[in-house]
Amino acid sequence: PGARRFPYSLSGGGLRSRRCRWARPPAASEHESELRALMVMASHDLKNPLATITAHIEMLRADYADTLGEAFGRDLAAIERGLHRLTTLTQDLLTYAKADHTLSLATVSLSGMVDDVIADHAVTASTPPEITVTGTLPDVPADAALLRHVLDNLVGNAVKYTRPGTAARIEISARVRTNGSVLVEVADRGIGIPAADRSQVFDSFRRCANSTGYPGTGLGLAICKRIIERHGGRIGVDENPGGGSRFWFTVPTGPAGSGKPDIVTAIH
Ligand code: ADP
Repeated sequence: PGARRFPYSLSGGGLRSRRCRWARPPAASEHESELRALMVMASHDLKNPLATITAHIEMLRADYADTLGEAFGRDLAAIERGLHRLTTLTQDLLTYAKADHTLSLATVSLSGMVDDVIADHAVTASTPPEITVTGTLPDVPADAALLRHVLDNLVGNAVKYTRPGTAARIEISARVRTNGSVLVEVADRGIGIPAADRSQVFDSFRRCANSTGYPGTGLGLAICKRIIERHGGRIGVDENPGGGSRFWFTVPTGPAGSGKPDIVTAIH
């Protein structure tokens, strides 16, 4: 997955054919890994100039916003919004490509990680969310940075896709299943996902029609899916009976990557 959905078309046999026109197109996996390497390099190299531009815009705002008036402030705000989108997209592309690298496994405290994510969102959300946590959050063998990215994204979306001006109400719960994997759920009371879209929200660059007006790149859940599947788990979404969405994922509590993929047919 990935190469066919890559939004920029590479004609003919792709990157390799430009260097060596008579070469046969590379096998799909080689082609995909070349594209991913390109994504890592491109997004990594974009980070520094973006950080420089951001720093200079901040300086312009601090030095001139008061003296140059309203129109200048509006223009600056438009540049900042565009820059923010570009920075988010660059970070998302980098994480997306990095999710394919070797996992850096350690014993991770899910409970500590959930506490950290909640604390971060309590500080950054414009209206602090109301988050409750229930169930058993055990230690799991996982790549801490990547697993944290998943939790961060699911909680971030639950906050973001809540109607403006209202505090997000989020329930995080977890339980160890009989096959030894842990099932984590993040349920919200937000705008919800239409039933027809639910199977597609994990595809890259896919955004639902009802989320127009909410900022986003459509990459976050595709990254989460790749990360969870790399850990041998599964991820999905269904309707929250209380209104809103209920995202869930599983991760094995045994050695990561050693077992068969966790098959979830029915979880509720
Ligand atoms: P982004 O949020 O950057 O657009 P994601 O990949 O995280 O990208 O999500 C894909 C789409 O799924 C979103 O654009 C939105 O339409 C929908 N979505 C994700 N999470 C939620 C949620 N908690 N509530 C409602 N819709 C959601």
